[in-house]
Amino acid sequence: MYDVAIIGAGPAGASAALFTAKAGKKTLVIDSDQSITKRAWVENHYGVEEITGPDLVAIGKKQAAKFGAELIEGKAQSIEKLEDGFKIVTENATYEAKHVILATGLMADLAEASGIETKPGTEPRIKTVVKADAEGKTNIPGIWAAGTAAGVSVHTIITAGDGAKVAINVISELNGERYVDHDVLKS
Ligand SMILES: Cc1cc2nc3c(=O)[nH]c(=O)nc-3n(C[C@H](O)[C@H](O)[C@H](O)COP(=O)(O)OP(=O)(O)OC[C@H]3O[C@@H](n4cnc5c(N)ncnc54)[C@H](O)[C@@H]3O)c2cc1C
Repeated sequence: MYDVAIIGAGPAGASAALFTAKAGKKTLVIDSDQSITKRAWVENHYGVEEITGPDLVAIGKKQAAKFGAELIEGKAQSIEKLEDGFKIVTENATYEAKHVILATGLMADLAEASGIETKPGTEPRIKTVVKADAEGKTNIPGIWAAGTAAGVSVHTIITAGDGAKVAINVISELNGERYVDHDVLKS
């Protein structure tokens, strides 16, 4: 049983996985390698002068893996409620996790196939998003949404930030107190 399963390894999903894995949570990331970010040339991501989308996505996955996140290539087809968590069904395997974060970008099919409420998108060219509150909670307790899939503005700094925000909320729920992840510069 994983503490957190994250569906999608674009900026939102990989950023969430970086935080949950670094917090010592058993983290699984399932990704179907269809990130729109791979078509981007990015010059407006704070702190990064310029970077290709493919490089940004690759570095994000590497950061999450560095802290122990398990990255699986595949497509999650449905999420089923279990007594103490959820079962995530992919083409050729099933996984179990206490919490699930949907960071599926433009794609709402998994949410719709799993009884998670969606609504029309309000950002340009975004058709459907998951209905999520300001913390990232959906209509099913334990299932969260982040990034483009949660209806935020479609920019890497914002979707990555939203992934981090939702991850901190999930970690805080697992720990029973607010979580902070600060490293100090060694003098
Ligand atoms: C041409 C182009 C140029 C852009 N230029 C910029 C720019 O200059 N600056 C900027 O800030 N932003 C830019 N963007 C936007 C940027 O890519 C998005 O803002 C954003 O980062 C999307 O992040 P995300 O993690 O929400 O979604 P994505 O990066 O799309 O990631 C979603 C991931 O979820 C996976 N997934 C979906 N469903 C499933 C499933 N059922 N099972 C498993 N995996 C699944 C997909 O394979 C994908 O890898 C650009 C986008 C495009 C298309």
